[in-house]
Amino acid sequence: MRIDLHTHSTRSDGTSPPGALLEEARAANLDVVAITDHDTTAGWTVAEQAADALGVQLVRGIELSTVFRGRGIHLLAYEPDPSDPTLIAELDRIVTGRTGRLGQMVAALRAEGVEVTEDDVRAHAADASGIGRPHVADALVSHGIVRDRDEAFDRWLGPGGVAYVRRYSPNLEDALALVIAAGGVPVIAHPWGRNHVLDVDSLEALTEQGLAGLEVDHQDHSPAEREELRAIARSLDLIVTGSSDYHGTGKTDHDLGVNTTAPDEFARLAERFSRWTS
Ligand code: AMP
Ligand code: FE
Ligand code: FE
Ligand code: ZN
Repeated sequence: MRIDLHTHSTRSDGTSPPGALLEEARAANLDVVAITDHDTTAGWTVAEQAADALGVQLVRGIELSTVFRGRGIHLLAYEPDPSDPTLIAELDRIVTGRTGRLGQMVAALRAEGVEVTEDDVRAHAADASGIGRPHVADALVSHGIVRDRDEAFDRWLGPGGVAYVRRYSPNLEDALALVIAAGGVPVIAHPWGRNHVLDVDSLEALTEQGLAGLEVDHQDHSPAEREELRAIARSLDLIVTGSSDYHGTGKTDHDLGVNTTAPDEFARLAERFSRWTS
């Protein structure tokens, strides 16, 4: 049983449409795959149809952009009710904030002599719910200005870069409460991926607030970090997941199934979301 609980489609910043994503999951011999586009449920319906046709079990999720102590933390929400009005309003606020800074990012790049337009970027975000930095990066790649998304983030788009523009994200604690109220199961994505702002004490407090699990096995974590996080998860009785964070060709070294979730850990997760599904 091969289980991958974190993937992206063209509905956010992946490069495969939801149906193709499921076909790729089947080809990668995955039995269970979660679609977890950033801040949107837009891919769920098509993914579900493809999963049924292919005999792959789909988990419907969202990867929420949140902030904790000034740093960005991603929160995976599995099987929240997509018709929950508070959830819908919050997702809309995040996506609107993401797209709303496109003009400023493009202006900052043009001021640096980088020839890129808003339409160039839009062309790389055709199906996406919101237009974000990965789509700006894709436009720069297609113009031959950078080699790949990573270089675009390093040179221009990352924090500290000239084209970096802040956008709205809810606080992690508020997002956690929101996900739980919508019937979703919250798991922190790559907790130590880009920063170590989440220490043991804060993870313990979040667990008391209803956090269900930690994405321990992720390419952004070293073997030592994985072992440390696994021990923390065990001590707090949190579910341990492992996932690819697949973005198609948008992220290298994140192939489907490169990390997987143990069946018994998935069973613990599924037990929590089976309350309102099926
Ligand atoms: P945005 O939502 O516009 O702020 O862009 C954030 C998204 O960009 C993240 O969710 C990642 O998927 C992607 N991202 C962040 N850093 C990088 C990077 N170094 N290379 C490629 N993609 C990145
Ligand atoms: Fe992404
Ligand atoms: Fe993430
Ligand atoms: Zn992700």
